[in-house]
Amino acid sequence: MSKNVLVVVERRDGILRNVSFEVLTAAQQMTNGGEVIAVVFGQGNQDEAQQLAQHGADKVYIATNEELNAYSTDAFSQALTEVVQTVKPDVILVGHTAMGRDLAPRVAARLGLGLISDCTGVEVNGEEIVFIRPVYAGKLFQKKKVKEGIIFASIRPNNIVKGEPNAQRTANVIETQVTITDIRTIIKDVVKKTTGKLDLTEAKIIVSGGRGVKSAEGFNQLYELAEVLGAAVGASRAACDAGYCDYAMQVGQTGKVVTPDLYIACGISGAVQHLAGMSNSKIIVAINKDPEAPIFRVADYSIVGDLFEVVPLLIEEFKKV
Ligand code: FAD
Repeated sequence: MSKNVLVVVERRDGILRNVSFEVLTAAQQMTNGGEVIAVVFGQGNQDEAQQLAQHGADKVYIATNEELNAYSTDAFSQALTEVVQTVKPDVILVGHTAMGRDLAPRVAARLGLGLISDCTGVEVNGEEIVFIRPVYAGKLFQKKKVKEGIIFASIRPNNIVKGEPNAQRTANVIETQVTITDIRTIIKDVVKKTTGKLDLTEAKIIVSGGRGVKSAEGFNQLYELAEVLGAAVGASRAACDAGYCDYAMQVGQTGKVVTPDLYIACGISGAVQHLAGMSNSKIIVAINKDPEAPIFRVADYSIVGDLFEVVPLLIEEFKKV
């Protein structure tokens, strides 16, 4: 049986997030001849619709209402619920981002659905869709499928390789005003905490610092290395607790979960709670002066040494490339 797959599209600073294209790629595998319907909230535009079509959307559904111009839990959950009731998809997919983590459980509860959250992979065998998700802080992976009813899942960013855009593809664009009532929160202003120019959860390279960096000034070297590599900067909780950097940069079980191509851990011991947030990185480089540091057990490249000597050397060498 064919399946219509609804993909909840996310923007950041007015730009479509990479994770939305990854989710569209996953959605395309699931249709079995059905349609991929991308839903955009707030004002849509032709350029966005074209990008979504090129990445796999057959239809672009723009749900408009002035309450949807900035994310709020109340407005978006009402809007998505209405869209699901109108479109009647067989599968709903969202990115497992801060927005997706807030929105998906609420909408699932409103619609009386289950939710398979934080999936890192999808296997499609004909009609069967199996979602793979980590458990026990990434130590094990479980496979889940929905036996009956609407399938609802959130997909972790940076785990599904987004397909190449197909310039020939076009999509039907449907614009609809949705009803939003009973708003308990009004967004008056958005004050951003920044982790640098790049979004940590979508960065391909992350330079991360721990307690071993010793001070906020010590992080300046990491920012410099990140600048040279085009990387984002992350941190351990100990570094955030010590005030070396902002909590928005924390990677780990209670921070952000990241899966970059390259993760460079500087002065981080490798506590299980930190590993929970980064051990699925494709290549891990660890710099630590303690040869017994647990981070070396997950590292692909281990540099035993003083980060204050190693990082400047890396900056010097990478500048030559
Ligand atoms: P440390 O463990 O103190 O390690 C510092 C490392 O720096 C050491 O290995 C040392 O050898 C090395 N070092 C020192 N000087 C140098 C130098 N000059 N050059 C090279 N290496 C040097 N932690 C997280 O990171 N993220 C989380 O989300 C998180 N959530 C948690 C949730 C709970 C419920 C709990 C209980 C803890 C959580 N933690 C989390 C904390 C975690 O247990 C660790 O305490 C923390 O990760 C340690 O951070 P660290 O590696 O920077 O510090």
